[in-house]
Amino acid sequence: MIGRRENVGGAHFAFTDRWGGVSAAPYEELNLGGAVGDDPEAVRANRELAAKSLGLDPARVVWMNQVHGADVAEVEGPWATRRTPEVDGLVTATRGLALAVLTADCVPVLLADPVAGVVAAAHAGRPGMIKGIVPAAVDAMTSLGADPARIVARTGPSVCGRCYEVPEAMRAEVAALEPAAHAETSWGTPAVDVAAGVHAQLDRLGVGDREQSPVCTLESDDHFSYRRDRSTGRLAGYVWLD
Ligand SMILES: [Zn+2]
Repeated sequence: MIGRRENVGGAHFAFTDRWGGVSAAPYEELNLGGAVGDDPEAVRANRELAAKSLGLDPARVVWMNQVHGADVAEVEGPWATRRTPEVDGLVTATRGLALAVLTADCVPVLLADPVAGVVAAAHAGRPGMIKGIVPAAVDAMTSLGADPARIVARTGPSVCGRCYEVPEAMRAEVAALEPAAHAETSWGTPAVDVAAGVHAQLDRLGVGDREQSPVCTLESDDHFSYRRDRSTGRLAGYVWLD
């Protein structure tokens, strides 16, 4: 259910794995994504199960309609509209409000400044990382009083640079914008390391307390991987303040 959980000075970080939910194949078991073809009732039940295991009220978890962009929305509570806005980052200074990011190979980025009381969640796939979703999230936090030097950053399970094969031209295009993302597969072909790019960007922004999950979604049977399975579920990362 919860693969990894951490509390840093009252800021909570959590990442799910694929087990402990009610979804049937190919979404088994804990699919938290509402736009992947799974039974909506199963997704709702899974979101409740995950929230409860984290001690959260499911109604106080804010989700995104992720579109591989670089827009960040500031939230103070659950969405007032029925339609979830198309953003790839959320920021809040509201205590007890959890921000959630869905992934299945992309990099889930959780950020918190426990002193300022500001948290953010971001979805960084290859396009979002290049478009600057990570600096946009840090910017949004800074405008709410966060200091990059105090920001704690945790990235969750994602496809690793030894598995994320891309055409040579795409690697060149990505590396021109973010050299740290230049990678090679374990079988010697061009690849992109999105998490390395995310961490290089955070480093340049002055975010020093960074940790990267060692889990590669594509190599792990305990995690959803879009590149491996195409029809599959979504993992979630959650960040919130006491
Ligand atoms: Zn891998």
